[in-house]
Amino acid sequence: MGVRRHGPGRHAAAGTHEDSRHAEAALRDWIRFGELDPGDTYPMQWARHYVEHSRARVHDWLLGEGVRFMPAVNWVERGLYGDGNSLPRYHIVWGTSRELTRRMIAAMRVADCGRLTLLHRHRVTQLDYRAGKMAGAMAIDEDSGAEVRIDAPVVVLAMGGINGSHDQVRANWPKDRPMPATMLNGAHPFADGKLHHLAAGLGACITHAGEMWNYAAGFPHPYPHFEGHGLSAIPCKSALWLDHRGPHLIEALVPESLGGAKRRVLPWMLRALPSLPPALARAIKRKISP
Ligand SMILES: Cc1cc2nc3c(=O)[nH]c(=O)nc-3n(C[C@H](O)[C@H](O)[C@H](O)COP(=O)(O)OP(=O)(O)OC[C@H]3O[C@@H](n4cnc5c(N)ncnc54)[C@H](O)[C@@H]3O)c2cc1C
Repeated sequence: MGVRRHGPGRHAAAGTHEDSRHAEAALRDWIRFGELDPGDTYPMQWARHYVEHSRARVHDWLLGEGVRFMPAVNWVERGLYGDGNSLPRYHIVWGTSRELTRRMIAAMRVADCGRLTLLHRHRVTQLDYRAGKMAGAMAIDEDSGAEVRIDAPVVVLAMGGINGSHDQVRANWPKDRPMPATMLNGAHPFADGKLHHLAAGLGACITHAGEMWNYAAGFPHPYPHFEGHGLSAIPCKSALWLDHRGPHLIEALVPESLGGAKRRVLPWMLRALPSLPPALARAIKRKISP
């Protein structure tokens, strides 16, 4: 349970009873918005597997573990310069990610048949690779400073991403895209990419490290857990984005997926809102952002 606990606890699922739409549409959106290349064999297989099984193996499984969802499915990542999610798919956990994490820890304890050992505050520093096989890992017990050897015939690296390290983010930033001068850290410094490098040194193939999910609307955490800690606000179901001078971001409100006439008329209507009678303006706002 790493950075998950800090999130709002949204999970994307296709074909649930809440949205009851088709997995194929989700796959199309994923491939288009994620800019997957037909040669991206594993990302393509994962995308297909996820959309085909997200209902049964994620959504329904979570329900079975006692997780509940808010009735309104969010429609995030709709796309501004291209079409994103063509349907609402984000299911928000009742109780946010804190509740999700609590339920998952409970499920892990139930599944334990006496062979589970949890080593908290142990930082893996080396991977033990012997005679062409993984044999375990070396870790530092952060409380005592002692080095600990963990023997294991199978090693799964579940160390998260690289976004907790600005150096890694900058080093892997796509060359053809502008890089912001300043950044906040919405992940955690533990997600530093060190184990990725160790694995790569042993022959692991790390691909697409530059495909990071960075938020443009970050702001400094009012109670930072570490230096440079940032937050990203989750807007309501259909957000109204304005800058400090007024409705300058109005075009951003108009979904790219709208047909030509509606797309042309909507920005004009939105700009006219302040000059319309309040009741009419309210009715239009409700229509646009129910
Ligand atoms: C603020 C925020 C909001 C988010 N919101 C959502 C959301 O609403 N919905 C969604 O689906 N996703 C969301 N995400 C993304 C989601 O949290 C991650 O994709 C997910 O947690 C990744 O899980 P993971 O197990 O791969 O890695 P992590 O959750 O990062 O876990 C990795 C763990 O490995 C540990 N670790 C790292 N290096 C070492 C080491 N050397 N030795 C020992 N341990 C190590 C870390 O401490 C951490 O506990 C959000 C992420 C953030 C930061």
